[in-house]
Amino acid sequence: MQLFTLFGYPVTHSISPRLHNAVMQGLGIDGCYIRTPIEHPQTLLPTFRKLDLSGANVTVPHKEVAFAHCDEVRGIAKEIGAVNTLIKEGTRIIGYNTDAEGFYAAIKSFGHLRNALILGAGGTAKAIAMILKAHHVDVTILNRSASRLDFFEKLGFTCKTWETFTPSSYELIINTTSAGLKDESYPCEEALLNLLFEKAHYAFDVIYNQQTPFLRLAQAHHLTYKDGKEMLLYQGVLAFHLFFAQQYDLKTIESLMRPVFEL
Ligand code: NDP
Repeated sequence: MQLFTLFGYPVTHSISPRLHNAVMQGLGIDGCYIRTPIEHPQTLLPTFRKLDLSGANVTVPHKEVAFAHCDEVRGIAKEIGAVNTLIKEGTRIIGYNTDAEGFYAAIKSFGHLRNALILGAGGTAKAIAMILKAHHVDVTILNRSASRLDFFEKLGFTCKTWETFTPSSYELIINTTSAGLKDESYPCEEALLNLLFEKAHYAFDVIYNQQTPFLRLAQAHHLTYKDGKEMLLYQGVLAFHLFFAQQYDLKTIESLMRPVFEL
């Protein structure tokens, strides 16, 4: 039997085991996907080897550690500096980032975009900024504080804090902060968000399965909007595709994973 896991801390509420087990079951694969809480980052890679895993996903707060310690990093993960998917290839552990491509697949229905504003400057913002840049979308980062903007500034992104920002026109506004996850707060001042939404066409919130105040305001402005459900779905589809050396096609994996969200 092949074993896969989700590493993170905490990992109790993640839907990932259900997503991956549903596909393995549907395809008749002798495999199992479990959760492994990792409190101390230095134990992540040794645990991967000790459990003799075929693959793993990595979530908060270990994506940077996984990036730093795997044997090889491939694809856009190299630019993001974080991996969310680990694959065993022989004796080596290879790291990928499927959050970025997962986001891009989720916004495909928005069509070609010229520019976007990202609210927040954490790990998720990095993945989204890099994939948008790769697709020639002009990205501005707006964060509450300046401390996390260095990464983006070095790569040439326009970066602003709440103090230095002058609102302009952006086609897509993306919330990557956790504002609205457990409270009724907005990722920036409501008045500013109203100004931005007046000129925007699309809104995206990485928080999934709930309509945040950010998305409710986007709806009030008649924008086309999405929560993070499809991003989560597609990062899982792409991870599964890598787990099994791309032998199952993406559409088949998606068709087996998607119903889990409706349960
Ligand atoms: P980080 O902790 O790395 O970054 C958080 C960022 O949000 C920081 O820039 C921080 O600003 C800002 N922030 C936090 N709280 C507030 C607030 N109340 N108001 C304004 N800004 C705030 O988080 P991640 O990037 O790792 O994750 C962010 C979210 O993305 C989580 O909710 C996570 O669940 C979700 N996610 C969804 C995925 C999906 O597939 N749908 C995939 C991965 C993550 P400052 O620097 O000033 O502190």
